[in-house]
Amino acid sequence: MVTNTEHIFKFLDEFATSNKENLYLESIIEACNQWLSGEVMPRLNASVTKEEIRRGIQLAVLKGMKEHAQPNHQMTPDAIGMLIGHFASRLMDKKDQVTLLDPAAGTGNLLFTVMNAMGEKTVATSVEIDELLVRLSAVSSNLLEQPVQFFVQDALRPLMVDPVDLVVCDLPVGFYPDDDNALNFEMMPAEGHAYSHHLFIEQSMNHLKGGGYGIFLVPASLFESDQSSLLHRYVKKNALVRAVIQLPESLFRSTVHEKSILVLQKPEANMKGTPDVLLTKVPTMSDKHAMASFLRKIDEWVDEQ
Ligand code: SAM
Repeated sequence: MVTNTEHIFKFLDEFATSNKENLYLESIIEACNQWLSGEVMPRLNASVTKEEIRRGIQLAVLKGMKEHAQPNHQMTPDAIGMLIGHFASRLMDKKDQVTLLDPAAGTGNLLFTVMNAMGEKTVATSVEIDELLVRLSAVSSNLLEQPVQFFVQDALRPLMVDPVDLVVCDLPVGFYPDDDNALNFEMMPAEGHAYSHHLFIEQSMNHLKGGGYGIFLVPASLFESDQSSLLHRYVKKNALVRAVIQLPESLFRSTVHEKSILVLQKPEANMKGTPDVLLTKVPTMSDKHAMASFLRKIDEWVDEQ
């Protein structure tokens, strides 16, 4: 039987490929808008889940991204999004309502994966500088019926966002060109440009409530770069490192592209002592037994917090 995900991808793909005068991604936005207004619809089996809708859109966006390809715009892969979603939902287990921020939301794929993993209890804010990606994620959030507020702006400029319980972010990596603005951050170096990924961590911590968590997809070499002394100093003063999770090499094209998941917590006034840091490595994801035992280890660690 054809799955709902396949039906949705086929519907978006046929719509986009028959509109040759528009960018493929523009046509996906138009197809989603027409779907929302009921003008045209994908053929769907009886009931459709939010994850089926997200995956169907994601497949079409992946195809469209080849045309719109820009370095640093890559959608967060599902395997990583699912892990972050698992972590996020376990860390927020005890809360009835969760406020969530993704300051570099791109297509929204990571954000929606996390929201879908957490059920119906999340209200999110998405910030992204690329206007096309914001329109794409806005139309996706409507189809997914996930409550998200969108900002099209440089996320390192002042953000009109109240402190949140949780930040998730696949950090844009590289130099941040706006030195004047970077001077507002502790991790601006004395010479040269600051690293965007450092400033995104700092901006995220600024927008967390005390006790809130930041879950970041970071370069695996984050703590060993030429500017890492700034990061070490910043983290020591402003955050608690709760977990560093190395991802399998097989997920990345080469060693320089390898990433890890970093979990930071914003300290609260009444917190006592320094909590343990979970240092672990994700096993080969196709190994079901190893993955089940890894997720059990994560769950036990969260339960101890
Ligand atoms: N999680 C996203 C997804 O699933 O599509 C992918 C995020 S991608 C690795 C990083 C994103 O950061 C890109 O979409 C890029 O346009 C955005 N970005 C880069 N610099 C930015 C800035 N200063 N302010 C806001 N967004 C920025």
